[in-house]
Amino acid sequence: MSRASRRVEVDLDSWVGDLPDRLLHCRELGHNWKPLTVSMSDGAYDRRLRCPSCRTVRIQLLTASGHVISNRYDYPDGYLAKGAGVPKANRDAFRVEAITRFLAPKADLRVAS
Ligand SMILES: [Zn+2]
Repeated sequence: MSRASRRVEVDLDSWVGDLPDRLLHCRELGHNWKPLTVSMSDGAYDRRLRCPSCRTVRIQLLTASGHVISNRYDYPDGYLAKGAGVPKANRDAFRVEAITRFLAPKADLRVAS
């Protein structure tokens, strides 16, 4: 492992560890999209969906028959890592952090009892 890749891993762990639960859960499990707005322009639908957990907005352009032409996303501050080199499709780090947080309170209870 190169020095550069070790530095990226430390940055990734630190960034994931600082994510609020609501952002971590969407990064790990995906969003829970809810309809927000729909408008029609030039024969295509512009549909906006929003995740109530992290507040990401998904902007879909659809044909009149419902075929998806494009999707783009407007993310809240803190959702995307800036300069941490987080692999886009790799959710492993998010899963490990979520499991660690889930287990930590139980471990505290065991120690206290
Ligand atoms: Zn979300």
